[in-house]
Amino acid sequence: MSEPPAEGARLSSPKLLFATTPAEFTRVFRKDLGTCRVLLAKIIDVAGQRTIENTLVLFDELSRRLEELLSQPKFLFDVHPDPLMRQAGDEAFQEADRFATELSLNRELYDRLAAVDVSREPEATRYAVTKILRDFHLAGVDRDDATRARVKALRDEITAIGQEFDKNIREDVRSVRVAPADLEGLPEDFVKAHPPGDDGKVAITTNYPDSVPVFRYARKESVRHDLMKEYLNRAHPANLDVLARLIGKRDELAHLLDYEHFATYITADKMIGTAEAAQAFVSKVAGVAEPRARDDYEELLARKRRDVPRANALERWDLNYYTEVVRAESYAFDAKLLRPYFEFRKVRAGLFSITSRIFGVRYRRVSGTPVWHPSVEVYDLYRGRRRLGRFYLDLHPRKDKYTHAAAAVLVIGTAGHRLPQAALMCNFPEPDAGHGPALMDFSEVETFFHEFGHLLHSLLSGGVRWGRNAMGGIEWDFVEAPSQMLEEWVRDPEVLQTFALHYETSEPVPEDLIAQMRRAEAFGRAYEVQRQLLYATLSLLYYTRDAGGIDTTAVLREAHSRFPLIPHFEGTHFQCNFGHLNGYSAIYYTYMWSLVIAKDLFSRFRAHGSLLDPVEAERYRDRILGRGSEKPAADLVRDFLGREMGFGPFEVWLREAG
Ligand SMILES: [Zn+2]
Repeated sequence: MSEPPAEGARLSSPKLLFATTPAEFTRVFRKDLGTCRVLLAKIIDVAGQRTIENTLVLFDELSRRLEELLSQPKFLFDVHPDPLMRQAGDEAFQEADRFATELSLNRELYDRLAAVDVSREPEATRYAVTKILRDFHLAGVDRDDATRARVKALRDEITAIGQEFDKNIREDVRSVRVAPADLEGLPEDFVKAHPPGDDGKVAITTNYPDSVPVFRYARKESVRHDLMKEYLNRAHPANLDVLARLIGKRDELAHLLDYEHFATYITADKMIGTAEAAQAFVSKVAGVAEPRARDDYEELLARKRRDVPRANALERWDLNYYTEVVRAESYAFDAKLLRPYFEFRKVRAGLFSITSRIFGVRYRRVSGTPVWHPSVEVYDLYRGRRRLGRFYLDLHPRKDKYTHAAAAVLVIGTAGHRLPQAALMCNFPEPDAGHGPALMDFSEVETFFHEFGHLLHSLLSGGVRWGRNAMGGIEWDFVEAPSQMLEEWVRDPEVLQTFALHYETSEPVPEDLIAQMRRAEAFGRAYEVQRQLLYATLSLLYYTRDAGGIDTTAVLREAHSRFPLIPHFEGTHFQCNFGHLNGYSAIYYTYMWSLVIAKDLFSRFRAHGSLLDPVEAERYRDRILGRGSEKPAADLVRDFLGREMGFGPFEVWLREAG
């Protein structure tokens, strides 16, 4: 069991975040980067025998500091209200990143670390060193000078091409113009926000606030068809060439490092281990989901036939629309009915009280400490009388802020030295904004729990000895599982009744409304899984082929042919706007993989009855969350479940009716 941080662990201020001017920020950044260089020189210069103290401890300090020089500027770039600070943050991040690449290819450093004898050290230390040396190996440190130089050049090229790929998607906003009558079916507020222009037509763009409601609600098929065609052709044709280059450079990098393909390389340090295992996993889930997905498909098609009697197939632009129609007609559920039960302050109070209760922790508001914006709240996390860490909540939208939801690690905790610190950046409705009650969508409540799960994971694992064994060191295809699991709490009637109280009457949310929601959610689940698996297949296929002369559109058709229930829209080029092909490369499968694990972990809670019962949650805290990455994720899961991880609970979830 990992120890909670010893009494000596202290809060060290995340100085970069609280710099008051760009000049001060840059001064602090340079000083810290200088410290990293001094530590590096120290490790290399040590004379005589390499020991834990004279090498590993220094390296841990160096990598932890470097991690913070990456995470704090990145976070500042996402949230700081001052554009000059954001710019300073961005530049600092790039510089720290260049230093990190240099470090990963530093042969002398690698040799020094490899010379430390850890054979008699505790298992967690040996595992940390195994991971550290493997990281170096995967970076290519143990190659000759010419190869290392080529690796570095390739990495820079891949980053630049990836940025071009993302930028082309971001900047290619398309639109269609339709008659006002064509907005039939769309919510009233949408129609109001889209008045006709001088030509009497309404412009609808491919941006989410327009495209999501149109794909879901527009009754007129040609409107959905036309917008979907534009939507799936964003960044086409520009990204055809960019994607082919991105795949080509990654293929070259993999060959240079003696891997058959990039997918083989990128899975080597994941739970799944190999590209073949990832492919086998996708096929297995596809097989499990297929019968139910076929039922979903037939139900959608039958509903479409009531509108279009001669329809013999669903089209790509039908999927979201008919899913929504069937949910509304057959399951009589309207998501808007839940909103009055999710007032922001009540939700936050509920999240705090539930997580305190099950994980045996408490939160204490901290005031008088500096923050980057007055709306940011600061809390300390305690277990008993012991402070475990600090977190910052930046939860409401404002100009120039990051527009999605994410958790960020700001300070990595180390046993006996430093307390961990983390933050959430989200965009939930604001109670004091003067727009009436701050009511949240169910999906926002789910997001809040999800991101808070990441935050708790990083704080609760802050007591491990080595930075490499903190939460950030866990396999990438595991890290979503704890947060995906925590989402289950907001679907549980007993849990919801504790905080989902009507904002006017304080009545708890009716149980039959929750039951209705769960039934509606269950419909189309297996079909959606098939769609996710198609994406996972596409991402694997692009990175398991010889990249020379690759025809990415032909590969897209091939992936579709393996999932005949998901229609391909001829003449469109999804691969050009599938942003994950850059950030996730071959490993889009990770979403589904961690979901299978999340369902498996959850099965143990479910089997023990109430989700408010702390017994299982505390075991989970001690055996998984608190361990960070002191062991491979599969071992942590086994320690908690008392058996190997399995598929059973995921299959049950796929088949259940809500
Ligand atoms: Zn997440």
